Amino acid sequence: MNEECSGNIPHALEETESPSSSPAKESELRSPSPPIVESSLMDHDDFHSALEQNVLQEFNNVHFTSKNLTQKPMCKETAFESWKSKQEIVYGSLVDSYTANQNLCGLCKAISGYGIIKCKDCCNYLCFSCDRKRHSYDPSHQRMYFKTDSSFKSLLPTEFITSRGEVVEQRVHVPLFPLPICTECDSRETSCLIASSKICYVVTRKGRLDLNLPVFHCQNCEKSTFPTVEDYISSGFWPGTPERFTVLFHQDVLEFWHHLRLLTKNVVSIMLRVVFSIATKNKTI
Ligand SMILES: [Zn+2]
Ligand SMILES: [Zn+2]
Ligand SMILES: [Zn+2]
Repeated sequence: MNEECSGNIPHALEETESPSSSPAKESELRSPSPPIVESSLMDHDDFHSALEQNVLQEFNNVHFTSKNLTQKPMCKETAFESWKSKQEIVYGSLVDSYTANQNLCGLCKAISGYGIIKCKDCCNYLCFSCDRKRHSYDPSHQRMYFKTDSSFKSLLPTEFITSRGEVVEQRVHVPLFPLPICTECDSRETSCLIASSKICYVVTRKGRLDLNLPVFHCQNCEKSTFPTVEDYISSGFWPGTPERFTVLFHQDVLEFWHHLRLLTKNVVSIMLRVVFSIATKNKTI
C-alpha cells in the first residue's frame, strides 16, 4: 500500500447539542422569541430588529435560567466596560494567536528542530512529518509554519515542509469517500484515492482551494478511474457542470448561501455571486 493510499480521509460528523429539557418554572420565564424562519417575509429593517430582539431575549434567558438565579443579566454598557477592562489581555491573546510558543509536536511528541507547524483548525502544533500525514488528506485547515528565526509563513494546502525546513509543493487531491467495490474487478475495499495532474478550484466557506482532481485506484487490479458526478456530490462537492469538475463548490457554501438568501433577500445573494465570481476567476457558475 503506498503512502497516499494509506491515509484515512477524515469525515468527522459534527455533533449537534440536543436541547436541554427546560423545567416548567424556567420555561415560564421565557417569552416567545420571533421565529427566524418567518423573517424571509420581513423587510430588511424588520428582520434586523427581530434578530436583535431574538438575540437579546436569548441572552436574557441564559441569565435567568442559569443555576445562579440571583445573578442579574449584564446590560450592554456593563458588558462593554467588562471587555474594555480586559483590552490589553485581549490584544495580547490576539497577538499570541499569530505566534508559536513551543516546538514539541502534539501528536508524536518529537522536538522539531527546524521550526513547527501550527494548525488553527486542529488547535495543535505539529512536526513536519505529522503535518504531512494529517493534512495531505484534509486540505481545508489553516496552517502556519513558524521558523526558528521567529518568522512565519501561512501555508497553502499544497505546501509542506521537508525535514530540513524547506517549503515544497506536493499534489493534494479533493477528499472523496473511497469506492466500496472496485468497478473493474469487483473486489471490496481495495480502492483508494490518489491525486491526478489535473487542477481544480474548490470554493469553500473559507475561500478557494487550488487542488488536484482525485483518481480512484484499485490496489487489487491496479486500474484507475476518474470519479463521476455522483461520487463528487455524495462526498459534498458540487461541480459547476455535471460533465466538468474544474470548479467545485463545497455543499456547506451552497447551504450557507441558501439560508442567507432566505434571511436577507437579494442583497447578500448578489454580493455572494460577485465574490464567487471573483473566487473562480469569472468562470461560469
Ligand atoms: Zn509529530
Ligand atoms: Zn489541522
Ligand atoms: Zn480492482
